[in-house]
Amino acid sequence: MKIDMNDYKAYYGEVFGKIVNIPSPSGYYVEIMPLIKKLAEENGASFELTNKGCAILTYKGKKDEVIGLSAHADTLGAMVRGIHENGKLTFTKVGGPILPTLDGEYCTIITRNGKKYTGTFLSSSPAAHVYKDASSAERTEDNMYIRLDEVVKTPDDVRKLGIESGDYVAYEPKYVFTDSGFIKSRFIDDKASVACFITVLKILKDMAITPEYTLKMMVTVYEEVGHGASYVPSGLKYMLGVDMGCIGKDLNCTEHQVSICAKDSHGPYDYAFTSKLIDLAKNNGIDYAVDIYPYYGSDVGAMWTAGHDVPGALIGTGVHASHGMERTHFDGIANTIKLILLYITQTK
Ligand SMILES: [Zn+2]
Repeated sequence: MKIDMNDYKAYYGEVFGKIVNIPSPSGYYVEIMPLIKKLAEENGASFELTNKGCAILTYKGKKDEVIGLSAHADTLGAMVRGIHENGKLTFTKVGGPILPTLDGEYCTIITRNGKKYTGTFLSSSPAAHVYKDASSAERTEDNMYIRLDEVVKTPDDVRKLGIESGDYVAYEPKYVFTDSGFIKSRFIDDKASVACFITVLKILKDMAITPEYTLKMMVTVYEEVGHGASYVPSGLKYMLGVDMGCIGKDLNCTEHQVSICAKDSHGPYDYAFTSKLIDLAKNNGIDYAVDIYPYYGSDVGAMWTAGHDVPGALIGTGVHASHGMERTHFDGIANTIKLILLYITQTK
């Protein structure tokens, strides 16, 4: 199987762009799932939605027995917590964004009746000409707020727009694919991996490759809050989590590599499965790194905590500045896609 990943660079960039530009903070899956369905079906996979809103993309293999893969389409975000006297919105975070990086970010408030309003995350000391602590004030949920781009002076003014506590707040994905191959966006974690799945499906279809086992690719929508793949289809022989690889401190991975995670905060991944992925990468010239992620959980952990007796491993493109201003490189994406293809065609 010889694949020139440069042939799929433009396709990948386009698919990632479509996926990343639809807001989907954890649990808000209603807008993104029709796109996932369309992209899966046009590449030969069938689509079904679980009761709690996760997608399962099925691609027929030589055998009816199934292996699982999982990536998550949910992102970090926020929710309206309350409405101040003066019409400012307080918020609670969804997942774990680095809050100081949200200071000054544009956002969209999505009401329960489907209206959208724009705003900006700010600190409570937002003006350098007025507040002595404009630079030094801590950026936390309690001293940040959302400035709504509507003429509102009271909580009633805000409520008249249809905005209430519990409305989702999505912030800008800021997607850029540079000529030098870097992919920048707030939400590379983990929409980059969802776009990898779609590109894998396209390659299977284009090159008429049939995987050994039937694939069940899960696209989950609650990973950032810990229970994305707590439900998985029955009968899985393995589960490969595909999520962002960590970079920094004493870790080995770069944005150009596929990271293979040996252990995260929840403990080690399956020994034999992880060793097999390392061998596949090593023996096929894939640029990879093995790492321990210090502050990290994945959908494989969610699956195990829920009690499923399925061996699991975790790989993904190296992502710099995760949960902040994220970046990876197409090299890392290409290495991830190649390792997934090897895994699904060489697992006997
Ligand atoms: Zn993730």
